Amino acid sequence: MKRPSDPDLELRGKLIRGLGSLREMLPGSFVERKRACGQPNCHCADGKNLHSQFQISVLVDGKPKALNIPAELAQKVREKIEMRRRFDSAAATICRLNLKRFLQEKEIR
Ligand SMILES: [Zn+2]
Repeated sequence: MKRPSDPDLELRGKLIRGLGSLREMLPGSFVERKRACGQPNCHCADGKNLHSQFQISVLVDGKPKALNIPAELAQKVREKIEMRRRFDSAAATICRLNLKRFLQEKEIR
């Protein structure tokens, strides 16, 4: 028999079950820089059609680093960094629900 449903518990269960799909998350933030390569005959020499340089801006051992990403991996990396944001958001919601439940239990006793 199914117990009467608690919307908070349902939401918490849904969030927890969704965390597995975020296992490939990456830290830091995604950065796209525009730059000229310096070749006088390149299309970037006009200063408008610049090259894109993709980077992860991240702390490594507490120090800020900018790690270059090959262009073909940029979309994947962008998604993985977005996963971290969703993970943090889910964790914050779970903590909020748990705190609410904890405070409710405390009142009863
Ligand atoms: Zn160029």
